Amino acid sequence: MDTLQQFLRHTSIAYFSMEIALRPEMRTYSGGLGILAGDCARSSADLDLPLVFVTLVSHEGYLRQEIGSAGEQVDHPDPWRVEDWAAQLDFMVAVDIEGRSVWVRPWLYVVSCPLGGRIPVLLLDTRLEQNCPEDRSITDRLYGGDAAYRLKQEIVLGVGGARILEGLGFEIKKYHLNEGHASLLTLHLLATQTGMDVPLQGRLDKVREACVFTTHTPVEAGHDRFSYGEVARILGHGGLIDPDLLKQLGGKDELNMTLLALNLSRHVNGVAEVHAETTRLMFPGYQVGAVTNGVHVPTWAHPSFAELFQGILSSWAHQPERLTRCEQLPDEAIWNAHQRAKRDLVAAVAKATGQMLDEERPIIAFARRMTGYKRPHLIFTDLDRLREINRRYPFQIVMGGKAHPRDQEGKVLIAEIHRHIRELAPELPVAFVPNYDMELARLFVSGADVWLNTPMPPLEASGTSGMKAALNGVLNFSVLDGWWSEGWVEGVTGWAIGEGDRLATEHASDCLDKLEGTVLPLFYENRPRWIWMMKQSISKIGSYFNSQRMMRRYGSEVYLS
Ligand SMILES: *Cc1c(COP(=O)(O)O)cnc(C)c1O
Repeated sequence: MDTLQQFLRHTSIAYFSMEIALRPEMRTYSGGLGILAGDCARSSADLDLPLVFVTLVSHEGYLRQEIGSAGEQVDHPDPWRVEDWAAQLDFMVAVDIEGRSVWVRPWLYVVSCPLGGRIPVLLLDTRLEQNCPEDRSITDRLYGGDAAYRLKQEIVLGVGGARILEGLGFEIKKYHLNEGHASLLTLHLLATQTGMDVPLQGRLDKVREACVFTTHTPVEAGHDRFSYGEVARILGHGGLIDPDLLKQLGGKDELNMTLLALNLSRHVNGVAEVHAETTRLMFPGYQVGAVTNGVHVPTWAHPSFAELFQGILSSWAHQPERLTRCEQLPDEAIWNAHQRAKRDLVAAVAKATGQMLDEERPIIAFARRMTGYKRPHLIFTDLDRLREINRRYPFQIVMGGKAHPRDQEGKVLIAEIHRHIRELAPELPVAFVPNYDMELARLFVSGADVWLNTPMPPLEASGTSGMKAALNGVLNFSVLDGWWSEGWVEGVTGWAIGEGDRLATEHASDCLDKLEGTVLPLFYENRPRWIWMMKQSISKIGSYFNSQRMMRRYGSEVYLS
């Protein structure tokens, strides 16, 4: 508790997230959403912002991915030992689940920044002897189980998390809901508004005043919905909220966690300009702003680039805005730093797959969650054409990414990619590195030459991996969606796939056309111009699409406004 004491006075904002990527060994994340939450925490520590982060402990992790002999994903739990990284606090609260009291106890992890800032993270845990075996497992598996399991997790996160903060003595003025998973905390706030004699409207306004909500996906399945029958059975009523009021706030036919958050947050934002527009169309009548995502530069810069940045501007980690200065770096320094990063990736691919890539040939990387709308197979639409391009301008592809255990389409895509890998071998080397995680991501986003992204617009809310690549001088080659609509300057910061009014069905041929006509010829025939683009990418993208800028905007425009 000693360690906690130092944070109590200073903290006034609580950031709630189902997942958060704190470090590779802590399996409390699955992908982009958790990485973003982690970068928010790291930047909050850097900037000494008054935040506390609240998440689930996820003892069994999300998913350890193995690729079977037929190229299929095999799912395993991914356990880790929380006691190696965090300290258990001597404090518990109970939440009501299925009429039982379920005890929740937090672990404290402290994010420390090299400049001295520190931020507390509370990891909520129900694996306690006070709970029955079933309830002990609620905080085991991130995004695991069925709808009932998810609802229980969201009660622990939203209601349990809010009670824990109060019980520990935090005086929270703003609650930031990172995605709808923590929306139930609004019901807790509503139920505990002092003076039940205050008219309902006044109580709703007070809750709204305290809550801000960031929505992260235009994909329908990304918005949690629960049947009211299930809600009544698991959450119960009476205690928290009147069922009719809940229907007014969370949806007539089923409880939609996004709607609940929209109705009870004063500030709502999407994670890129185009995503905010899409969200306004999905939920007419709500004011939705945009705070475009960013990435934590010191976390994602390869050591070779960190050294280069340090050499010309000592404040780069704290003020990545100043990366514009990178345009002054000598070409040779940039290229050598890149080749160092590339050798690390080549070594990691060899270790994981036995495939030996050639560090003189361009590496095109595609790595992210494997799911339908991300279209990881788009580049394999015409294998003969791909072979032909490879004969003129030899290249190599590295891939990685997990499919959610219940995402059948994503799993089919992984198997399909492995079929293409066999069809293209040995002519065109394509390596799929299993179990893509934060550690592999750092190697991928710095060691590739080209970062490929081919989502189906407008379904990529933001995307952040391209930002990580850009600040390592890896050139983006992507469909214009999410953040890339803002970061793209053709032939300067990278290249677009499918400009203007091109249909999504034409993206595959656009991609191959530009690969053959522009990207690969530039790599082989005009290296000085390629390196010039690497510098443009670092200076123009790194200086803006970073999480210091993002958190300064959340601070001034969202938390304080
Ligand atoms: C950055 C990151 C992501 C997000 O990738 P997108 O291309 O933005 O979807 C996913 N997983 C890991 C491990 C990451 O580091």
